[in-house]
Amino acid sequence: MIQIIDKSQCCGCTACASICVHQAITMQPDKSGFKYPVVDENRCTRCGLCLKVCSFSPNYYNFDNLPVPDVYAARHKKMDEIERSRSGAMFITISDWILSQGGVCYGAGYMDHFRVVHKRATTSSERDEFRGSKYVQSDLNDVFIQIANDLKSGLYVLFTGTPCQTAGLSSFLRLKRIKADSLYLVDIVCHGVPGPYYWRDYLAYIEKKTGNKITTVNFRDKTKLGWAAHKESFCFGNKVTYFDTYTYLFYQHLMFRQSCEKCYFTNLQRPSDMTIADFWGWEKVDPSFNADDKGVSLVLVNTEKGRTLFDAVKNQVHYIKTDTSHCLQPNLQHPTVPHPLRDSFEKDYSRFGFEYVAKKYANLGWRYKFRRMKHKFGTLLRRIVRK
Ligand SMILES: Cc1cc2nc3c(=O)[nH]c(=O)nc-3n(C[C@H](O)[C@H](O)[C@H](O)COP(=O)(O)OP(=O)(O)OC[C@H]3O[C@@H](n4cnc5c(N)ncnc54)[C@H](O)[C@@H]3O)c2cc1C
Ligand code: SF4
Ligand code: SF4
Ligand code: SF4
Repeated sequence: MIQIIDKSQCCGCTACASICVHQAITMQPDKSGFKYPVVDENRCTRCGLCLKVCSFSPNYYNFDNLPVPDVYAARHKKMDEIERSRSGAMFITISDWILSQGGVCYGAGYMDHFRVVHKRATTSSERDEFRGSKYVQSDLNDVFIQIANDLKSGLYVLFTGTPCQTAGLSSFLRLKRIKADSLYLVDIVCHGVPGPYYWRDYLAYIEKKTGNKITTVNFRDKTKLGWAAHKESFCFGNKVTYFDTYTYLFYQHLMFRQSCEKCYFTNLQRPSDMTIADFWGWEKVDPSFNADDKGVSLVLVNTEKGRTLFDAVKNQVHYIKTDTSHCLQPNLQHPTVPHPLRDSFEKDYSRFGFEYVAKKYANLGWRYKFRRMKHKFGTLLRRIVRK
């Protein structure tokens, strides 16, 4: 049976909990809200399926992949769709097609007060909640089991998520021997996922600071600032306010799950039919393609099924075929390197709470001002010495 001794070896994909017919495994949160499997030994029959299904390893299934993916820069033909999506709205393009076939879509949406969870959508209005990147580990709950049921009913199914989630789903379905011809797996290029409790506590902090209830969130608002900028925005009724403390901690690599530093999927051998991402390096393909800075999608077509999918949707997008030499952003080459103080951050958070770590490690409070002043003073001093 599965036992998590080294947390960096579990990405939280839920495949083990979903495969166990004795319901001996529950996914339980740690102090940052990252979920890990815990086995009830009284229910466990030692069948070993949970060990077999675990695909967070270099041996994940990618045997249907093309030798090299087909690479495209793509943008939805409707500007409104691009503006409401994170990149070039490839997700909307694909999910529109699945829905038009009477199919169902699974993606990251919200429950309660902006808790990020994977959900099932059968209409475009339900699906619209999945738009945009949510920089938090989404809770998969029992969606693998729901997907198995949808496939047994003969539905077209689209699953979008992180590569570790698609790898987990694909392994679960193969071990269950579920026919998955009508399943389309789409993953994102993934920088890493922060713990759900950091996000929850950040929202509480913002609400306390402003004295208002948040009504809408946008993890990376490009409406005013453009696609390349990164700031989170919150609506309080009609008023929109920008913040950047969460973004700051995200890029400092302080909040990620431990498995993200060992990630096996930061390469071109994707555990999916198609990969979608921001196309960093798009200028080398065509400098006019994203001149308005609204966003452009990178599309990697990884399998023959991915080719069928791209052919079905390509008339909805402007696209340029290119090759892998232009698109190799860092997370297609190696896992994100964690901040040297990541573990201290986690410990401080569990002892003292979010506001304390935001002041100590992010851009709030006197420590940050002191660090900036020290940096500015150092630069000035070096200039004077050089003269
Ligand atoms: C945590 C995270 C890290 C990322 N890191 C990178 C990166 O390093 N480089 C890069 O190029 N792109 C990264 N992306 C992907 C990128 O930001 C866009 O999500 C992607 O390009 C799709 O954009 P779109 O315009 O086609 O669709 P959008 O409408 O933006 O669709 C978003 C899609 O992402 C899925 N999604 C959103 N949040 C989550 C989540 N928390 N967990 C799982 N799935 C989610 C939704 O289900 C939906 O399918 C990241 C996304 C996330 C969520
Ligand atoms: S060994 Fe079998 S019964 Fe025990 S937890 Fe794993 S899957 Fe369940
Ligand atoms: S990676 Fe997935 S299958 Fe493996 S132990 Fe963690 S939750 Fe279970
Ligand atoms: S970086 Fe890797 S392990 Fe972490 S969430 Fe993304 S795909 Fe999963």
